[in-house]
Amino acid sequence: MRCPKCNVEYGKQKTDYEQFGIIVKDVEVLQCPKCGDRVFTGDQVDRIQQSIWNLAPKIRIKRKVTKAAGKPTIYLPEDVIRDAKVKIGDEVYIYMQDRRRIVIEPTAK
Ligand SMILES: [Zn+2]
Repeated sequence: MRCPKCNVEYGKQKTDYEQFGIIVKDVEVLQCPKCGDRVFTGDQVDRIQQSIWNLAPKIRIKRKVTKAAGKPTIYLPEDVIRDAKVKIGDEVYIYMQDRRRIVIEPTAK
């Protein structure tokens, strides 16, 4: 893989990756030796995600139920939306998993 700006082959580097305040150490990243541009490949991103879920199987983010247009509203954390691969405009299913738990599930995968 080559850097699109410098047209130089990326080199492999180790880095720490942080998400949700969790640090995954020694993650492989491709880095341009000239401009320092960094790219995680799909494989590496999958491995990072796996490590994060293994480290923190129950990530909980507190949100207040607010009101928008007279209806109860919860703002969704960007990290969660990104990891669930949901974009603005996508449809989701909302249902009760049990008497207290509300699940939001992407309709598309
Ligand atoms: Zn470059």
